[in-house]
Amino acid sequence: MNQTRKVVLRFPQDTADRPLVCELALRFGLVFNILRASISPHREGLMVLELFGDTGKQEMGLHFLRDKGVEIEDLSQDIRKNDNRCFHCGACVGVCPSGALYVDRQDYRVYFDENRCIACEFCVQCCPTHAMEALI
Ligand code: SF4
Ligand code: SF4
Repeated sequence: MNQTRKVVLRFPQDTADRPLVCELALRFGLVFNILRASISPHREGLMVLELFGDTGKQEMGLHFLRDKGVEIEDLSQDIRKNDNRCFHCGACVGVCPSGALYVDRQDYRVYFDENRCIACEFCVQCCPTHAMEALI
């Protein structure tokens, strides 16, 4: 059976500079798009992948990554910022790993770039006014 699936990969520090994702294509013949990536040598990394094709091969590929220490979650939620509730405290900016939440130096307000969001929900957990929402 074929399926399209989006997953968030979290690479621990000791794996972030290894070409593990290439192995999905080489070993398992998987086709994928890298939707987001935030990877630096010797630091924890994050990547969002869109996988295509055979479900069994996808499971084998993801199992391979888990064995190497990569944490994997399905990307199933949409994140929204409710500007009516936001008082621009900046708490969410500090926890956002992808730069999707940022302070504009012109007006010192917090803005949300949904194209950079990897739906990790860190902002949802830390926002004191629940301005950041996860929609299924
Ligand atoms: S934590 Fe909440 S209230 Fe504070 S800037 Fe972020 S969205 Fe706005
Ligand atoms: S869910 Fe929130 S913290 Fe996570 S990437 Fe998206 S905006 Fe940033």
